[in-house]
Amino acid sequence: MALPTELQDAQPRTTGFWPQRIGRRLALGFGILVVLMLLVLSQIGLQFRNVSEITRQFAEGDMQRLLRVQQLGIQTEGVGTPLVRLMNTTREQRIPEYAEIDARSKTIDNILESLADDLKDSGQEETLIRLKKSWADYQAAYIATAEAVEAEDREAATKALNELFTPALSAMLHESNVLLQRERERIQSQLDDAQVLFREATLWATALSILVVVLAAWLAWRTTGSVVTPLRALESAARDIAQGNYASRVPTTGTTEIDRVGGALNTMAETVAQREEQIVRLAYEDALTGLPNRTALLQPMQTPVIAPNTVALLDLARLKVVNETLGYATGDTLIRQLGQRTAAVFSAAALAQQIGPDPTVARLSGGTFAAAFCAPTRAEAQALHAALKAAMSEVVQCSGHKVDMDVSIGYADSASTATPLPVGTLLRNAEVALHTAKRTAQGHAWHSEAQEAARLDHLSLVTDLRRAVAESQLQMWLQPKFSLATGKAVGAEALVRWQHLSRGFVSPAEFVPFAEQTGYITLVTDWMLREALRTLVRWAPLQPHLTIAVNVSTRDLQDAGFAVRVGQLLQASGVEPKRLRLEITESGLMEDPHKSIALLHTLRDLGTPLSIDDFGTGYSSLAYLQKLPVSELKIDRAFIDKIDTAPGSQKLVKAMIEMGHGMDLMVTAEGVETEAERATIAALGCDVMQGYLASKPLYGAALQNWFDGLPPA
Ligand code: C2E
Ligand code: CA
Ligand code: CA
Repeated sequence: MALPTELQDAQPRTTGFWPQRIGRRLALGFGILVVLMLLVLSQIGLQFRNVSEITRQFAEGDMQRLLRVQQLGIQTEGVGTPLVRLMNTTREQRIPEYAEIDARSKTIDNILESLADDLKDSGQEETLIRLKKSWADYQAAYIATAEAVEAEDREAATKALNELFTPALSAMLHESNVLLQRERERIQSQLDDAQVLFREATLWATALSILVVVLAAWLAWRTTGSVVTPLRALESAARDIAQGNYASRVPTTGTTEIDRVGGALNTMAETVAQREEQIVRLAYEDALTGLPNRTALLQPMQTPVIAPNTVALLDLARLKVVNETLGYATGDTLIRQLGQRTAAVFSAAALAQQIGPDPTVARLSGGTFAAAFCAPTRAEAQALHAALKAAMSEVVQCSGHKVDMDVSIGYADSASTATPLPVGTLLRNAEVALHTAKRTAQGHAWHSEAQEAARLDHLSLVTDLRRAVAESQLQMWLQPKFSLATGKAVGAEALVRWQHLSRGFVSPAEFVPFAEQTGYITLVTDWMLREALRTLVRWAPLQPHLTIAVNVSTRDLQDAGFAVRVGQLLQASGVEPKRLRLEITESGLMEDPHKSIALLHTLRDLGTPLSIDDFGTGYSSLAYLQKLPVSELKIDRAFIDKIDTAPGSQKLVKAMIEMGHGMDLMVTAEGVETEAERATIAALGCDVMQGYLASKPLYGAALQNWFDGLPPA
């Protein structure tokens, strides 16, 4: 199935680094987030470590240094007081003063030494050099002063103190202060640096955090979007499909899991579409022939460009028997052949522009086909009929059998109406025509207004039947039946005739079907039964073995009282029940099989033998017939007609005879008209014949002559 172009164009969105699977996409999104968080945390940690390092350095180094420099000043100042005290005390009292001075000097030495240890800049170094030099001056001044004191030279001592020691002390103090100042500045500048670093770190952390938050938001949006958007597409496509738009397809989204579900949905849509197509096809197509069916004929999916004005209804005869005797495969082949040949004739006619461009050939049921087409005039349809007949004339070969294709055709058109009739009406009319074709054994018939009028006329005729029965307008004609083995008469079939007062002779074929429809046929049957029994009473002394068969209609079989009536009539006449036969058609039995079978058993129990009439034209199965309490099978005359030149019919009739014998039935052939036909059925093993060859139906003097000519029993 082709995709709509807009969907074909829907390429998977290019996603770049974006993985195709939701799982991986989520993993990537969250992975990136975690990495970013770690980055931020590590960056912030690093900054904090820097700051704490600075703080530690500051605390451990610079503050210590500052304290030491302060200590230096204090110690330096502290030296002056014991020296002044030295000048004014006794020798003994000077000893602790020296010790104090020495201790302070040592402390100063140590401080100077430690200060020299970790110098931070050249300014400090220079100050320190100057400080050391002042310290050396100071020490020299101290020694000079102390020596003068020890020499007890007070004047020199005072001079040394004033001129050497005091300037050296103030120089020392000065330098110490300079250094202190220097250290303070250094600390200040370091504090400033730390401040800047701190601010930078805070800035960094804030910026990074903002970046991470933005990135996280983007990732969340992107990940959610990448799942939700295709899901939405999936949802809308699914809804589309649910609404019956099977051509709708889920576009590729570039997301593996969704595409997998989408693919499954697409496959589902395709399958559903195919199934629906199949269902529609099944609803409109005949499975055996592939041709349209009745529905397609009556309700075509597309209205034809040119509306059909003619319908041909074709019916394959003897299909049931073909199925039963030669197998269903042969029956199917026959049906398919009829379908193919009919379709071929109509397509050829359409191609030759003999008829409209799109004829429909449909299979209605069993071996019944209908063709709806547009014929400009009836002449074209008649030409088409010739083509159909030619197509059907060829024998069908299947699984070793040669079967004739015996087809009756009924035609109906809109010639007599101003507007074309709908196909349904044409089909109904064609059915009437088909019945006529079958009844008159002409092979085909056209439905006409006259026919319709005749049908109505027949109905009016039937109402006259009651009077006919009462006023003895009916006659019972008898057609003798002969044994094929001995050539002797075995009995006769009673056939009704009607001498209508104004219409003259009316054929039973004309009024029996309509009398059956109205139910008046039961009057005819009763009348015929009485006549037959009267005749049998007359025949009994001379020809006691002869039987008379009376035709029983479907209507009689539906009446539960029928068997009782037959029994009463038999009893009243005193005729042996086995002399009266009753002929029942297959189709009559099929209307209500259960009821009919029960009735047949009651009739059979009276002692009256039963015959199956027109065998091979109905639709009952042989298996079903096996259950019936019948003793005679009458093969319809359609099978006997020209049987000597029809190998297909011979096969069928042979199979029917064998099957009849298998069921212990007497087999009678109806409508034997020629010697060749007689010879053929005799060779096939048939028991009894009935037909114009041996005798036409007889009445009055003719009947009496025939009876008188019979050899004595
Ligand atoms: P059916 O029962 O099949 O009767 C045989 C018909 O075949 C008779 O036509 C008979 O005249 C005709 N026939 C006999 N031999 C030949 C032959 O060699 N060639 C040809 N072409 N025809 C032959 P009929 O009398 O016109 O009766 C027609 C149908 O009307 C009967 O067919 C039967 O179904 C019905 N029918 C006749 N009489 C009665 C009756 O009393 N009651 C009922 N219910 N139906 C009847
Ligand atoms: Ca009959
Ligand atoms: Ca018959």
